[in-house]
Amino acid sequence: MSQDVISLHAVTLPREGMPSAQVLEHLQQFKTKDIPWQQGRAFAYVFEPDAETKALVTQAYASFLSENGLDPSSFPSLLKLETDLVSMVANLLGGDGDVVGNFTTGGTESIILAVKTARDYCREHRPHITQPEIIIGETAHAAFQKACHYLGVKPVVVPVCRDTFQLDTDQVLQAITPNTILLVGSTPNYSHGVMDNIEALAAIAHSHDIFCHVDACVGGFYLPFAKKLGYDVPPFDFSVTGVTSMSCDLHKYGYAAKGASIVLYKNPTIRKYQFFTCSTWTGYSLVNPTILSSKSGGAMAGAWAALNHLGEAGYMNMAADTQAATRQFMDGIRSIDGLTILGNPVMNLVAVASTQEAVSVFVLADMLKRKGWHIQVQFASPCSPEALHLNINRANVVWIPALLDDIREAVAQLRAMPAEFPQIPLEMLTALFGQPNAFDALSTTLGMNADDLPDDFAPINNLLNQLPPAYRDVVLTEFVNRMYTTKG
Ligand SMILES: *Cc1c(COP(=O)(O)O)cnc(C)c1O
Repeated sequence: MSQDVISLHAVTLPREGMPSAQVLEHLQQFKTKDIPWQQGRAFAYVFEPDAETKALVTQAYASFLSENGLDPSSFPSLLKLETDLVSMVANLLGGDGDVVGNFTTGGTESIILAVKTARDYCREHRPHITQPEIIIGETAHAAFQKACHYLGVKPVVVPVCRDTFQLDTDQVLQAITPNTILLVGSTPNYSHGVMDNIEALAAIAHSHDIFCHVDACVGGFYLPFAKKLGYDVPPFDFSVTGVTSMSCDLHKYGYAAKGASIVLYKNPTIRKYQFFTCSTWTGYSLVNPTILSSKSGGAMAGAWAALNHLGEAGYMNMAADTQAATRQFMDGIRSIDGLTILGNPVMNLVAVASTQEAVSVFVLADMLKRKGWHIQVQFASPCSPEALHLNINRANVVWIPALLDDIREAVAQLRAMPAEFPQIPLEMLTALFGQPNAFDALSTTLGMNADDLPDDFAPINNLLNQLPPAYRDVVLTEFVNRMYTTKG
């Protein structure tokens, strides 16, 4: 008798519901392997306000959980929250009364919408363009390439200045073609915390009658406060002639709950092209200013609560603390033989690179992880060596001296005993790629296992770092495609 073997997913809907306490217990228990951000020793991913503000944001978020942003005429409360938030951000970013915008779920959505708006504006006003192009620097956030990928727009990536990591405006000028619809600058860029020269970029955009987007996702709700504190922040917002759109996240230095960003446009005539309207189907008339349709009011209420509770004074205090801590950190790193800070970071984002072969930043990241620190790594690119990346948030401030001590000690150890990596010739790795089981062969070679992540990532990071980026993307996609499967 033959029996068909049917393979099922490991997790099924429970037949009877679980008691609430048990549900919550499970949820807590799932977190045991997460990075321990609560102590303030993670320098990425989490932007946490003080405990009182956190409690308020949580309460505000929950109080608007069910309200639906799909239709502002049914929920005028959400329209009020959104227009308030847009207005507060527009005022901080040099906007006049013409500047309009919307609340989105994050920097990525704000950026996708800014690219879509430029594309659709040009479809109508410059119909000769059949293959629209946007010009971005190597340091522009990956979200711009994602926007291009989704929207059928061509990203033209230009080299940035090799010493400053700033956009090279001569390169931008040379890259302009009759198909260019948008120039992009970052204030600052995420990878190096360096500000592009927006005055120069926007002047080029203006003289060529092209839109100019300023990606202030991470800096927009921070630089105005740093400037007021006396830090040198060159003009970067709507006060600069030629700037036509901006993105500014509230879930970073607005310390709001995640799912909160603002996209702004110079005027409603431009913003109109962001909308999607459809009343030709059989259901309700759909008018979507942003990408989502049904959406909870939670994130908006959380952001409104954070901004109104903290106020300018609260944000100034936090910026003062994190600016000082970042300067302390940079001085500390510069005093360590074997490490350096890349470029001239303007706010509280920095990239730390090695100056000596013995000091591998990938090994350093693993050593620091064993001491309870969580720090992001960045791969090398044509303009920049591999590096550690830190966001120095308010929760991290008190830890800077201890972190520097641990880094100093780890670097001394590395210099005394450099890490050794298995040497796998690049040709051997790249030769794997045309083959059907390339990924499995490669992951065996690398000792990668998507079911059980290793403690030490340095050998894997080191190899990925050497792969050409196109191959790296293949490996990462295959790996994560295997990660997202049920594990029981
Ligand atoms: C964080 C960030 C983004 C993307 O934002 P998400 O909220 O992660 O989607 C884009 N640009 C810059 C400069 C950023 O720092």
